[in-house]
Amino acid sequence: MEKTHDKPILRQIAQLGQPVLREPARPVDDPADPAVQALIDDMLVTVSDANGVGIAAPQVHEPLALFIVASRPNPRYPHAPVMAPTAMLNPEIVWGSDETEKGWEGCLSVPGLRGLVSRHRKIGVRYLTRAGELREEEYTDFIARIFQHEFDHIRGLVFVDRVDTRDLVSEKEYLRIIA
Ligand code: ZN
Repeated sequence: MEKTHDKPILRQIAQLGQPVLREPARPVDDPADPAVQALIDDMLVTVSDANGVGIAAPQVHEPLALFIVASRPNPRYPHAPVMAPTAMLNPEIVWGSDETEKGWEGCLSVPGLRGLVSRHRKIGVRYLTRAGELREEEYTDFIARIFQHEFDHIRGLVFVDRVDTRDLVSEKEYLRIIA
């Protein structure tokens, strides 16, 4: 992992084809590790700068089980609900509703494309906060979708793995016609 630094820095985002996106991530041993804390700070500025609603550590070339959910309306996701940016370490999906829903997803590692992905509409999850506290939460709809998308990243999956290619569209057309 990179050394710690005083101020958060924008990280390079791994693009589809880079092997780090296909490796299973390893658990975070010590959330208090200054390198982990610095990584979280970097991911927070990187996801905001890129107009993302979430980012996983493998997307910034760190194969760790850690991601940020940072839902808010932005030019890439005009209808996203607002949620305070939250770092989730060693996340788990405890249960998923039988009810699934197809919805549009994009990915900072797959620029220019959107696809319809089927996800659980509701999930129960567990994760550690950046302070090392265990949280159990339930999420629905778009936030549940972000969690499932980011959870895929830490297992080496990307959303296009789950898309029928006929449900894949260019981001430009998506923003013009569908959003
Ligand atoms: Zn992604």
